[in-house]
Amino acid sequence: MTKTYDGLIDRFWRYVQMDTQSDEQSSSTPSTAKQQDFLDALAAELATVGLTNIRQMPDGYLFADLAATVADKTVPKIGLIAHVDTADFNGHGVAPQLVKNYDGQSTIPLGDSGYVLDPATFPSLKKYAGHDLITTDGQTLLGADDKAGVAELVTLAAYLIDHPEIKHGPVRFAFGPDEEIGRGADHFQVADFDADFAYTVDGGPLGELEWETFNAAAATVTIQGQNVHPGTAKGTMVNALQVGIDFHNALPADQRPEVTTDRAGFFHLIAMTGTADQASLHYIIRDHDRTLFEEKKARMASIADQLNADLDQDRIELAVQDQYYNMGDRLKDHQEVVALAKRAMVAAGIEPVIEPVRGGTDGSKITFLGLPTPNLFAGGENMHGRFEYVSKQVMEQAVTVLIGILTTAASDRAVDQ
Ligand SMILES: [Zn+2]
Repeated sequence: MTKTYDGLIDRFWRYVQMDTQSDEQSSSTPSTAKQQDFLDALAAELATVGLTNIRQMPDGYLFADLAATVADKTVPKIGLIAHVDTADFNGHGVAPQLVKNYDGQSTIPLGDSGYVLDPATFPSLKKYAGHDLITTDGQTLLGADDKAGVAELVTLAAYLIDHPEIKHGPVRFAFGPDEEIGRGADHFQVADFDADFAYTVDGGPLGELEWETFNAAAATVTIQGQNVHPGTAKGTMVNALQVGIDFHNALPADQRPEVTTDRAGFFHLIAMTGTADQASLHYIIRDHDRTLFEEKKARMASIADQLNADLDQDRIELAVQDQYYNMGDRLKDHQEVVALAKRAMVAAGIEPVIEPVRGGTDGSKITFLGLPTPNLFAGGENMHGRFEYVSKQVMEQAVTVLIGILTTAASDRAVDQ
């Protein structure tokens, strides 16, 4: 039996029905007005719950504070962060369905969409025998990423305010836009947030505790060809598409996403467009290891140089932009923050699952802005699509772990004294 928390599922149900999809094409902050609508409603709810100092920052983040219930000023101020936007998949008209006491083996029809959640396709379902699962109706994503995190944080706040006997230090809450388009945390106001360390609650299944991410860059290769009539092209035509193919083929074939796993990094060709006259290739570059990451970027540059030297003139232009860095390079010096979460999980009977993320989190950026911020599980499975689902009991366990983190940090100081 897990502990239940009043309002947790009601909140989640309400939040997922509000469309908050972000938009990469937009240059506004938040990128979509519907995220602002959600943040406005959330700000009102946080006030009702009893949080204080509720304010929205210029970068769109909604901040709120919860005062300590211990007088000891040395108890750390802990930040908890979730994002309100949903991924690039239909988020309009989310109609969640509740599957009570799932048996761990049945196929779950997703509304009358014809889509099903089948344990043969999604073996993770087998872990959830006896759980209450929340799924989509097959038409949309669910948005447990990261409405589960949002619901867990608001419920945590409400629970702590209802239970002033629980001893904890100051808690700082943050709800941000545009995580899914990779820029929400670019200007996170660390000083104003005023936490000693933080956690994003944006991870997947039970026990996930992430403190290492990729280093990430985006690269654009632009090629200017020389197009002439193909009948008289000999010695004159430079086909931009062919140069692009040559560029791509010069990259190591064993460093592509489809053939790499664990800590192996990659070059991922995400788009290739063009004509004989002009072409462009768009890549993302990923590696956990900073040295290997820098080598990957340098390798692209040297391939471009080599091809340019072989051509009649410089025809390849390479633009590389770093996106985020492996927060593990900073968090290795703040392992007490990771250890605290680990202890809270173990105390709650949860086995921590600590693996380097093959991606990034808001914490990747926030950590490099100076606030150590590992990522904790929020509960979601199969994120970013119609097969997304979450267990009510795992969401409850997430709240229990957060309470454990706060109370453990407070009681450590009591022992230290
Ligand atoms: Zn997320």
